[in-house]
Amino acid sequence: MELLSKDSIKMYSYENRLKTFEGWPFEENCSCTPDNMAKAGFIHTPSDNCPDIAMCFFCLKELEGWEPDDDPEKEHKSHSAACQFIALKKKVEELNVEEFLKLHREKQKFQIIKSSKDDFTKFEGAVKQRRAELIKTAKGEE
Ligand SMILES: [Zn+2]
Repeated sequence: MELLSKDSIKMYSYENRLKTFEGWPFEENCSCTPDNMAKAGFIHTPSDNCPDIAMCFFCLKELEGWEPDDDPEKEHKSHSAACQFIALKKKVEELNVEEFLKLHREKQKFQIIKSSKDDFTKFEGAVKQRRAELIKTAKGEE
C-alpha cells in the first residue's frame, strides 16, 4: 500500500467530497446540505435501498437516516469521537507536511481496522456455514 497514493488523499479535498453529493436528498432549507456534509468530512455513498448514506472519508464511519435538521459536524463528532479529521483545529491545507503525514497515518489505521472487520465478518460467515453443514452431516440429514 502506497502511503500517499492519489486515491488515498483525494478526499482530503472539500471539492472532491462535494462532488459525491449528486442526488443527495437534502438540498435546500436544511442543515445537512451537500456543502455542510462535505465540510464535515462526509462523502455520499448511496446504495440501492438507502439514498442517504454518507461516510466520513477519514474514519469511515457511515451514517444514514439523516433528518433535515441534523448538523453534519455535530453528528460526526457524536458518532465518531475518535475521528481526528473532524477534531482538526486547522484546515487540511494549513497543515505542514509533518502534521499532514501524522494525520494520514491515523486515517490508515481506520482503514486497516475496517478491512480486518470485513475479513472477520467473511470468516465468521464461512465458519457458520461450515458448522451448519457438519451438524447436518452428523445428524445424518445428508
Ligand atoms: Zn470521521
